[in-house]
Amino acid sequence: MQNETLRPENTPAGLAGFTPSISRSANAHREGTLLDKYGRRITYVRLSITDRCDFRCTYCMSEEMTFLPRQEVMSLEECLRVASVFVGLGVNKLRITGGEPLVRKDVMWLIERLGALPGLKNLVLTTNGSQLERFAQPLRSAGVKRINISLDTLQAERFRNITRIGELGKVLAGIEAARAAGFTRTKLNTVMMRGVNDDEFVDLVRFAVDQELDISFIEEMPLGEIHGRGNTFISSEETRSRLAEHFDLIPSTESSDGPARYWRIPGSESRIGFISPHSHNFCDTCNRVRITAKGELYPCLGQNDASNLLPALRSGDDAAVRQLIVDSMGIKPYGHDFTQQMDAPQVVRFMSMTGG
Ligand code: SAM
Ligand code: SF4
Repeated sequence: MQNETLRPENTPAGLAGFTPSISRSANAHREGTLLDKYGRRITYVRLSITDRCDFRCTYCMSEEMTFLPRQEVMSLEECLRVASVFVGLGVNKLRITGGEPLVRKDVMWLIERLGALPGLKNLVLTTNGSQLERFAQPLRSAGVKRINISLDTLQAERFRNITRIGELGKVLAGIEAARAAGFTRTKLNTVMMRGVNDDEFVDLVRFAVDQELDISFIEEMPLGEIHGRGNTFISSEETRSRLAEHFDLIPSTESSDGPARYWRIPGSESRIGFISPHSHNFCDTCNRVRITAKGELYPCLGQNDASNLLPALRSGDDAAVRQLIVDSMGIKPYGHDFTQQMDAPQVVRFMSMTGG
């Protein structure tokens, strides 16, 4: 099925008139649900809309990154179409990520249309916060429900060292702008690194509590060729027991529909989460897949198998895109098998490629 208005070469001239379509062809998955071969229902997609970023976090990128040529990156129309097809298959939660999603030109064009997609209940975003001062209000108006902001330190010089080029002040202003725009349950994501930021975990939790934010501590994952990870790895368990010396941590059964396990601090609304791909593998209940900026569908963050949706997207054939997605459920593995051998990459892609 061809549709002239959906062709990528119409971008950006065609942006204004574009309306997403959801194919109802014979190739459509009958029940409108995506089930993998282990019976897990896929309702959550993480969509990377760029591999570029205005930071170069040491755990995420190498210093000299080579980014994708622009023609290999999905156009905004293609991003919208792939999201529409997923929603037609029962996906109700979409996280926009990257790279840094807010450095993508015309990003609001896409987000406004995603926010208006019938059936998409939960449109959320992961950002480094650098552009939030400018974007918080438009994001809120477009229907983004919740924002995750990465923050590994509250010290300006350390922030610069971790991100290589970022400014802490901009991110703090972004956090404030998110609050002013009316976002609630904003969550900080902190990658735990021994000898880099582990002396700040208590301060980061205090900051989260003071600012009425949630915070999740993330175990570093061996994605991409980055040296020296083995020396910095800290498990969630260690961090939690260190935090328990300062806070009364009460286990919570709450879930944010993601891999984090949460604890509460009495008297505070903040949730303290731990994302533990190594120590507490969360694959049993995995409900998600990832789409890279170049239109590859990765059924699992920790494996290298993927389906390329881009040729079907570029030929304007949404029915074929839909069929590829349904078929890719057959290659969703039971789980990842990250070991704590952190010095060698266990997955060759950088996190900025697959989308966190
Ligand atoms: N640029 C945005 C940001 O930083 O929030 C979105 C993309 S970033 C790849 C998404 C998340 O992945 C961030 O919270 C980041 O800290 C995390 N991340 C990147 N590389 C990681 C790694 N090797 N292990 C664990 N988390 C990682
Ligand atoms: Fe950019 Fe996010 Fe990766 Fe840092 S973690 S380099 S902000 S994509």
